[in-house]
Amino acid sequence: MNVLKFGGTSVGTVSSLENVRSIVESLPSDTVVVVSALGGLTDKLIATAHLAAAGGDWASEADAIAERHYNIIEGIVRQENKANTLNVVDALLDELRRTYEGVSLISDLPAKTLNVIVSLGERMSAPIVAGAIKNARLHNSLDFVKTEKWFDKNIADSILTHNLIVREFADLANGPHVTGGFISQDRDSGEITNLGRGGSDYTAALIAAALDAEMLDIWTDVDGFMTADPRIINDAKVLPSMSFIESMELCTFGAKVIYPPTIYPVFHKNIPIRILNTFNPEAPGTLISDSSDSKDYPVKGVTAVKNTCLVRLSGNLTEHVAQINTRAYNALARNGVSVFLLAQPGENKEFSFAISSSDQGMAYRSLNEEFVPELLDGSLKNISFEENLSTIAVVGEGIRHMKGLDGRILNTLLRLGIRTLACSEGNSDTTASFVVEEKDTVEAIKAIHGLFF
Ligand code: ADP
Ligand code: ASP
Ligand code: MG
Repeated sequence: MNVLKFGGTSVGTVSSLENVRSIVESLPSDTVVVVSALGGLTDKLIATAHLAAAGGDWASEADAIAERHYNIIEGIVRQENKANTLNVVDALLDELRRTYEGVSLISDLPAKTLNVIVSLGERMSAPIVAGAIKNARLHNSLDFVKTEKWFDKNIADSILTHNLIVREFADLANGPHVTGGFISQDRDSGEITNLGRGGSDYTAALIAAALDAEMLDIWTDVDGFMTADPRIINDAKVLPSMSFIESMELCTFGAKVIYPPTIYPVFHKNIPIRILNTFNPEAPGTLISDSSDSKDYPVKGVTAVKNTCLVRLSGNLTEHVAQINTRAYNALARNGVSVFLLAQPGENKEFSFAISSSDQGMAYRSLNEEFVPELLDGSLKNISFEENLSTIAVVGEGIRHMKGLDGRILNTLLRLGIRTLACSEGNSDTTASFVVEEKDTVEAIKAIHGLFF
């Protein structure tokens, strides 16, 4: 059986939903379909929540949201399902209005309330898509996707979720099955949570892994995984195939095609992923599996993560480089901070790490704690942070055989007058990464992409 995930762009309009319907109705009845909220709706729900908290006119926005859902129901839901779908969606729209009203009354938007508001996107789109597809059975993902707290994040409790998915889909042949992505429930408090923006991909991967699917199909609005973000590079090429590792690196370093945590559960079970285009279903798409086409495409792509912050440890650290790196890395990891790039210290013996700007406070506390002895004896003089940076990554299993790659990239950037603040020389077999100023992101991607494609 296959698990199919349709993103917001695929479920945004009646005509795109017609494509979804014909794709799903051509497949066997044990297919599981995971859907996002209607395209752009999650952003709208969030913006309206802030508007309500600020005393703005949330009611007109809520009316527009309702109108959009009614039009789609009218245009796509099967006649025999219309009354029921309308009832379900009406009750959810009521919940949305009451929640906005509460936010407006207290002029505050607690995180828990925002979670309830954003969940309504997928709680409404799933019954609509189910109502549009012949014989479809609707499932409520809040019943089987459970999260636990990890620092200030909600992360999937994968064992509990796995067991609940197996139970939920025991009658697999009697589908197709439709459920909402992204949304989840805290396993302890029962509160509504979610898997993070873009998290519908992850819901689909958790289901594919638990049900031992043959394939996970991510249906979106482009012909496949491309060598760069097509919104930045207009002649970016579609890649026929790539390895799990390559896709993991590209997505971690900013390729928006797949939400990064998605890849691990299917990689672990060796379930291939296909990236396919709902608007061009005949296109072959990209196959992500345990093998990679390193001959034709030694480099698979160039990506960027904005909001990078560079942490620098400066002084006269006498310990071995590897020890300082390991201590810093572990101290950050213990506190939930991931490091994108670990630069080799130059002659000035300055250690630098790239992290997300949102982790800066936590990084400051963790490193100050870890290096108390060195701060006291003066061998570590300063822990500083530089913001408004981007990490640019060049990814491909073939790069390990490309001699002088870093030098070529650094020279290209230098010629363009782009300042490179750190470089990940030799940290990884599949990724070379560079920190530049955020304002230079697009120019750097264009120049580096031009070197390879
Ligand atoms: P969905 O709503 O289907 O989840 P997303 O917007 O999350 O869609 O992801 C698809 C988008 O990702 C594409 O429209 C494209 O603009 C963007 N994108 C960024 N980098 C890449 C890349 N390397 N290859 C393909 N698409 C990319
Ligand atoms: N609707 C959610 C979002 O916009 C989840 C998703 O689309 O994957 O982030
Ligand atoms: Mg997405």
